[in-house]
Amino acid sequence: MDIFRILSRGASLKKSKDVTTDYALPTSKQTQKQKHKQENLLHQVEKETDFFHTKKHESKNQKVDNKQTEDHEEEEAPKGEEEEIPPPELTTEEDAKKFRNLHKSKVTGEDIPIPIGSFQDMIGRFSIDKKVLSNLIDNDFIEPTTIQCESIPITLEGRDLIACAPTGSGKTLAFLIPLVQQILTKQVAKNHGIRGLIISPTNELAVQIFQELEVITRGKKLNIAILSKQLANKLNNNIIKASKYDIIVSTPLRLIDVVKQGHIDLSKIEQLVIDEADKLFDHGFAEQTDEILSHCSNPSIRKSIFSATIPSSVEEMAHSIMKDPLRVIIGHKEAASNTIDQKLVFTGNEQGKLLAIRQMIQEAQFKPPIIIFLQSITRAKALFHELLYDRLNVDVIHAERTPKQREEVIKRFKNGDIWVLITTDVLARGVDFKGVNLVINYDVPQSAQAYVHRIGRTGRGGKAGKAVTFFTKEDDKAIKPIINVMKQSGCDDGFSEWMEDLGKLSKKEKKQIKTNEIQRKKISTVPKVIKQKRKQKQDMIAASKRRKQEEAEEEN
Ligand code: ADP
Ligand code: MG
Repeated sequence: MDIFRILSRGASLKKSKDVTTDYALPTSKQTQKQKHKQENLLHQVEKETDFFHTKKHESKNQKVDNKQTEDHEEEEAPKGEEEEIPPPELTTEEDAKKFRNLHKSKVTGEDIPIPIGSFQDMIGRFSIDKKVLSNLIDNDFIEPTTIQCESIPITLEGRDLIACAPTGSGKTLAFLIPLVQQILTKQVAKNHGIRGLIISPTNELAVQIFQELEVITRGKKLNIAILSKQLANKLNNNIIKASKYDIIVSTPLRLIDVVKQGHIDLSKIEQLVIDEADKLFDHGFAEQTDEILSHCSNPSIRKSIFSATIPSSVEEMAHSIMKDPLRVIIGHKEAASNTIDQKLVFTGNEQGKLLAIRQMIQEAQFKPPIIIFLQSITRAKALFHELLYDRLNVDVIHAERTPKQREEVIKRFKNGDIWVLITTDVLARGVDFKGVNLVINYDVPQSAQAYVHRIGRTGRGGKAGKAVTFFTKEDDKAIKPIINVMKQSGCDDGFSEWMEDLGKLSKKEKKQIKTNEIQRKKISTVPKVIKQKRKQKQDMIAASKRRKQEEAEEEN
């Protein structure tokens, strides 16, 4: 529980600084033993969150902070004084090769730039805006992740990019930093029109991208916006003009609606990012994405697509809309993050799944915060009612809940007020919850991609995470793609040999699984008698409420 409290704090990876300030340190009443226990936990958390190697670079960070102050002082110093620019960490092709071998990074295409070795490399090589750089450092983004090292120079050299990197590996900043820098570099007239556009498949993810954009553009004169329902209404009613914005983050449908009504002009877009690109090129979204692309008519537009899973078909589509793109793949294409411990559990039948959860609780393997994925809204709701009965601190998010309700549940989950979040694939993509310990696939996901994204809600930013996938007799075919992902990510001990022998899939079968939901028995282990009693109780409460209301009305 203590770990949960610590890790679920805040929305960013604010390592040791946040951990110590947010976490209630032992009071004088607490015993020495408790104090030690908490110190150990803090130490453990710090260790877990050191994926980005900030501890190792603390002294360097200090140097950067000092440099910032010096720079600031120098601004007021007489002109003519030279600024000291640190030499880049990686300069030669040999350096790049070593870096790529070490970080399992593959880049293909013509004229590949050398990656950056640190955020400071951006000063000398790309004259990065100092405020943007200090915003990064102030928010504890000290060292770039591998995908950031590769994609920042590629974008800043004006190249189109297809980027595939594991879930939780920092793709958002990998596209935001160069996008912002490019826009800041080129001066344009006021109300020139929107220059940067980021498309995301869900509103939750758009909000998150926007928040990260706010962080890095703090103190800069950039007009940024998320295309919320309210903003869309204001634009459609001519209360606000879209041309005042420099960068917009949006989901496709809302954007198209405003574009079609002629209130957003995409013809000036210089930088276009399609996040979770495979989703946005998949059926359901492809038409909308295509329509957006057709409006982005600026001949010098630069495009990037990002995802943790980019199938060849999507790459082909990307090539058809891009100019000479570079392709970056970090780790194995479509493998899950190697910080996730994956496991397949055979539960026999549907009932076995609830029993498996209860067994996990008994064996202390059910450590919050936890996200549970199901295949449909009906099933998510049913499991929610079952777990409420178990007195777990649960809530549920699915497409039938209002944006406000969804926002509220996410906030409470992040705060630690909710321990178990039940959901559908609506939350499978991009959303960054700190410190989720466990993802349970209550129902087997319908493709390898869906699996990678669902379990990618844990093991983010280098922290360790666990993913358990339940399966029944009905799923013997659907688990094959999952076993492949597990093998690719080095989780060979997460499944038994006999599971591997279950049906090999033909292309047709794969497609069938992807498009047809498996028919499952209803979720419930609660005996009928108890259900009837619950219903009676609910009816009594409702009747009593009605009576009170009637009495109140009579009195009035
Ligand atoms: P992805 O899009 O690859 O799934 P995100 O962009 O959501 O991953 O990043 C995952 C987490 O890592 C976020 O909490 C983000 O703030 C954090 N993060 C990203 N880059 C860095 C960095 N260079 N240093 C520290 N934390 C980072
Ligand atoms: Mg992302």
